[in-house]
Formats: sequence, structure tokens, C-alpha cells
Amino acid sequence: MIIKHRQPSVQLLQLRHLNARTNFDLTNYDSDLKGYYGEQLLDDYIRKIDFGNAIVIEDIRLLDGNMERQFDTLVIVNQCVYILDAKFYLKDARLTDDKFYHGNKLIEHPNLQIGRSETFLQNFIWKHFRLNVRVVGYFVFVNQQVQLRNDDQHPKLLKVTELSSLFQEIKHHPVFEEDYDIAEGLVNLHRKQSIHVRPLELNNVTFYNGLKCPKCWKIHHPDLTKLMRMPCCGEIFTFNDVMHFVLSEYCTIYDVNQVKTQDICRFITGEERRNFKIERFLRENLQATGKRGEYIYKR
Ligand SMILES: [Zn+2]
Repeated sequence: MIIKHRQPSVQLLQLRHLNARTNFDLTNYDSDLKGYYGEQLLDDYIRKIDFGNAIVIEDIRLLDGNMERQFDTLVIVNQCVYILDAKFYLKDARLTDDKFYHGNKLIEHPNLQIGRSETFLQNFIWKHFRLNVRVVGYFVFVNQQVQLRNDDQHPKLLKVTELSSLFQEIKHHPVFEEDYDIAEGLVNLHRKQSIHVRPLELNNVTFYNGLKCPKCWKIHHPDLTKLMRMPCCGEIFTFNDVMHFVLSEYCTIYDVNQVKTQDICRFITGEERRNFKIERFLRENLQATGKRGEYIYKR
């Protein structure tokens, strides 16, 4: 039973939206985007697995003092918390004679990272709920284009395809009241935004005007007709659909919940001139703030 689904962070959504809309250099954020991609691959698998009554939580970010940790997926059952940490490696990985390689490069032994996660979560649960639970971490290799060679037969290194056999037996374990308490408590303490996040520097970025295809996220300059066919995929959207999409894009990029008519017109057309179709849409579909030409948009 999945009680919390993964939601991309504000910054991740910002980055994804900036991608077609601007010349913003995303290379510094490559690992964030790749991490999210790996987590989604894990989610795809997770959703196919039968966990029985076990409680599944996707994506939990917890803060203990000034120490922050993010967990891709937790499975809680029988007073035990399983951590599933998605690993998206681009080269073959190998654990041999207690040494861990990514390609030919020797990297940190998984025990260290898994141990840190286990200790953090065990202490966190004790501190917040006064419950002493067993915490067991796993590395889950999600990129099936590369190989994992587990010569040491380390029990905590898994291919994503081995997940379902891991839970074959576990799914029959009982779920206790405490398990629900922990699950609920962790979800309540989840932090949507990381403390390490820094606002994006958009001052010198060039924005491309137009409307974004809600399916392909490509920018176009279509005529503002009731129905619009997107040149990228040929899909037809209503003017309202495309407008809602551009508003959510605008509010995500600027991290705001209010829009000004003038700014939205400029964002779409690139011109200072008034656009009555856009103005009418805002007037008829959004809640006014009370100030002229200003509206509330809930993402
Ligand atoms: Zn399209």
C-alpha cells in the first residue's frame, strides 16, 4: 500500500520548465535531474510489486539538526523499515573482494552509505516517536543497460528486478499499530524543499516566448484559437488547456502564486502590447486579487 507518492521538488520542476523556455545552462544540475530519473525508474518497478499490507512511502526528506537525508523509498512492516535507495549508474558496477567499482573507478563501499542511512533513520525514529525499530538499507540498481556484478554476494545490493523476490516473504509479515504511527509521522515530517537548495540565478537568462505543448514541452507560437494543434506531436489542445499549462509553467519558474496580466502577455507573445484573448482568459478563469490586472493562480 503506497501512502505517499513522489513529487518532484519545486526546483526540479523549475529546471525542467527552463529547459525549452530558456538558454539556462543545466549542466550543473545534471545529477539532480539524473537522480530524479533513477527514482522514477524505481517507482515504475515499485508500482508493479505486491507488498501485501506493508506500507510504502516514496520520497521522504528528513531533517535532524542540520543533517538532512532524503530516502527514495521506505517500506514499513513488522516494526522494520526497509530503505530502497535507487542507484542509476551509467557504467557497470562490481563488488569484488570488498572493493566497489563503478567502471574502473574504485568508489566508496556501499556499506558506508547504507550504514549512514540506517543509523540516521533509526536515530530519527527513536528521537521523534520513541520507538526502536530495525532499519535495513538496500542499494537498488535501476539502470538495466549496465551490469551489476556482485561477486561478494552482498545481500544489500539488488538489481531492480530482484526487488519483488525480496518482498515475496516480507509482504506476509504483520503490520502493527506502531508501523502506521511511524509511517504517518515520517510523512508529516517530510520536507518538500531541501535546506541546501539555492534560488536559481535567472538574471542573465534569455527567455523564449510562446506557448508550451503540454505533452512535449516544446515552445510554439500558435494562433490563439479555441482549439490548437501542436506542431510537435500533432495533438490538439483547447486554448484553456494550453493557457493553464503556461500559467503553471510561469508560476513554477518564478515560484509565485500570483500573476499580472501584463507579465503573462509578455511571457507568451514577447510584446508589450495588450492581448485581449489572454486577458479575457485570466479574467474568466482566475480569481482576482483585488488589484487591477492581478490574479491568483494555484499550482
Ligand atoms: Zn507536442
